[in-house]
Amino acid sequence: MLVLRGADVVDVDGVRQADVAVEGEEIVAVGDAPDDPDEEIDATGQYVAPGLIDAHVHLMMDGRPDPSSATDESETMLAYRAAANLEDALDAGVTTVRDLGAPSTLALDAADAVETGVLEGPRVLACGENVTMTGGHGHWFGREADGQAAVKQAAREQLKRGADVVKCMATGGVLTEGALTGAPELDEAELTALVDAASAKRVPTAAHAHGAAGIKNAVRAGISSVEHATFMDREAAELMAEEGTYWVPTAKALHGIIEAGTDAGIPAWAVEKAEEAAEAFADSFEHARDAGVPIAMGTDAGTPFNFHADIPEELQLMVEYGLSPERALAAATVDAADLLGLDDVGRVTEGYRADLVVLDANPLDDVAAWGSPARVVVRGSVYR
Ligand SMILES: [Zn+2]
Repeated sequence: MLVLRGADVVDVDGVRQADVAVEGEEIVAVGDAPDDPDEEIDATGQYVAPGLIDAHVHLMMDGRPDPSSATDESETMLAYRAAANLEDALDAGVTTVRDLGAPSTLALDAADAVETGVLEGPRVLACGENVTMTGGHGHWFGREADGQAAVKQAAREQLKRGADVVKCMATGGVLTEGALTGAPELDEAELTALVDAASAKRVPTAAHAHGAAGIKNAVRAGISSVEHATFMDREAAELMAEEGTYWVPTAKALHGIIEAGTDAGIPAWAVEKAEEAAEAFADSFEHARDAGVPIAMGTDAGTPFNFHADIPEELQLMVEYGLSPERALAAATVDAADLLGLDDVGRVTEGYRADLVVLDANPLDDVAAWGSPARVVVRGSVYR
């Protein structure tokens, strides 16, 4: 048995003084813990919180300025990258990640590697290959498909491989040269076919969408989460709230590009577009807050200048965009768990998986506290 003693526990249920006892992979007591456990960590004056859940990462990408250059690398090299990224994410206190697009079975295999103890890392859920129209966004690492029957087949291929979520592209990219708003790609009928295929297996769906038309197509099709939603308008927000569609903002993706800027070799047109998109994005947060859209944390880690080691910065950005620290915590714990279909993570409570971080400050007072966990416990073992 492992006991974290003397800390305040902080999760979606609030802050309370409590020792946390862990046996095997599970939290077995929160409150009073036995006096002589096998291992004890003195966490007096610190805060024990749930490990973070990132609902949108790319394990094979390493934050390079042009991610498509990764196609020049072998799949083996990408797998090594995934292993390094998993380590970085875990070190940052991220204990669950959802990969939303990698070639072949790379991310699905990463999930098995962690599950069987081959690799140390966060629990991985994965979509396999993302479904995109021919020549559509991310086609260089996706599964191209056009028309309802073909899209259904593409989704079923991913499900056969064991996908935990089916991911698709409902619009183009926001930074593609010549385009800004992310015009619709897979249409509503194709998206509906994809949702039908996934729903039959009770598997959630995720759609990349920037522009309002594509967002609405995805929501009407019954997609579980809209990723990015950079140009969400009021109508889209209301529709999402009504349907219970999650928003995964990935604020870090946009900020990575803006912060790095042209000095880092990003083309000037791309930086300019990212700045325009960031303005629209602030409105998206306002619409989402007003309408009551459910939000799950996701970063798109792996995209340019958006590193797996910095995932907790997303909570800071969400707070900068106007969410309360409590709401940001919920987005990165219980709400992300709900989106992913997990009922054993996101809280510090008896019977839950012992995926925990020990923080030096209360993250509800100082959201930056998430960024430098003093300790990380995953599946009951102390990672560091
Ligand atoms: Zn992505």
